[in-house]
Amino acid sequence: MGLLRSAFLAGSQSRWLRERAVNFRPVRRAVSRFMPGDDLEAALAAARSLRAAGIGSVLTYLGENVQKPEEAEQVTRHYLEVLARAKQTALDAEISVKLTQLGLDLGRAACEAGLVSLLERAVADGTWVWIDMESSAYTDVTLDIYRRARARFPNVGVCVQAYLRRTERDLESLIPLGGGLRLVKGAYREPPDKAFPKKRDVDANYFALARRLLGPEARRADVRTIFGTHDSALIRRIEEAARLAGLKPKDVEFQMLYGIKRDEQSRLAAQGYRFRVLISYGDAWFPWYMRRLAERPANVLFVLKNVFNG
Ligand SMILES: Cc1cc2nc3c(=O)[nH]c(=O)nc-3n(C[C@H](O)[C@H](O)[C@H](O)COP(=O)(O)OP(=O)(O)OC[C@H]3O[C@@H](n4cnc5c(N)ncnc54)[C@H](O)[C@@H]3O)c2cc1C
Repeated sequence: MGLLRSAFLAGSQSRWLRERAVNFRPVRRAVSRFMPGDDLEAALAAARSLRAAGIGSVLTYLGENVQKPEEAEQVTRHYLEVLARAKQTALDAEISVKLTQLGLDLGRAACEAGLVSLLERAVADGTWVWIDMESSAYTDVTLDIYRRARARFPNVGVCVQAYLRRTERDLESLIPLGGGLRLVKGAYREPPDKAFPKKRDVDANYFALARRLLGPEARRADVRTIFGTHDSALIRRIEEAARLAGLKPKDVEFQMLYGIKRDEQSRLAAQGYRFRVLISYGDAWFPWYMRRLAERPANVLFVLKNVFNG
């Protein structure tokens, strides 16, 4: 793992750094490149303008590892409001949630109950709930909760990470369940026995897993596959593999994060691929932003530019 990536991922867990960075105006300005604003109104406004350009969205309220039951309950209520607002305004929006934000660290039962209430509402509204994948300490429990949710609900998906060695094996049991699978590279700090340390191995594994998800078994099981990546070379290879598998653009779905690779976002949407932008918002952005810096240390230049431009 690169030194800088490693340093940012370690920093994402530092309370000392968080307390200083969140009140530092230049950092806040740099964050706004990836986040339309701190509140739901800003996220809904961004979703509306994407919709005008024919692009759907996935909304995610930032936060993780909540430590009090009332915080977890507030998060569930917040997402219920998101679903209600999206329905009222006929927005093409789905949601993506972190189980530790729904209180997983405090106990599994309450977290699952929160998830189920979101899924019940989403089914009634005809939309989807996605479960983010967090660090490898949570992989087993996240997949387990996903499997139980999937047994009851048609409109649930989970994220799987190509940097994890285990993901190839996980797909063997996840594909036959149908449901949704969002393939990403992975954003946390993991040891080499769990995750491929070299980027080229992660990229190669992503493509191997992508081919599997484009293959006949996944299609028979009616898996809704999302390719969550901004890697243009990889996207081209996936487009080509899909074409060779006889798929049309409308059968293939990509998602990217708000504010990253906007030209590629427009290209994919214009070429008829199913495409959504994941919009993050909320004031608990610090660990999430550090993971964005880790993905692309050049982003630090934006922070520095904001520092020097005052
Ligand atoms: C829709 C979606 C959902 C996600 N959900 C999860 C999740 O649940 N769990 C999880 O662990 N991870 C998640 N991620 C993050 C993911 O794991 C990667 O960390 C992230 O997508 C960067 O990897 P990449 O595939 O874009 O490839 P990289 O090889 O990292 O990047 C390819 C190129 O994209 C551009 N790029 C990538 N990241 C940035 C950035 N931060 N700023 C500016 N340019 C950038 C750069 O040009 C870079 O060269 C998600 C990503 C997406 C798009």
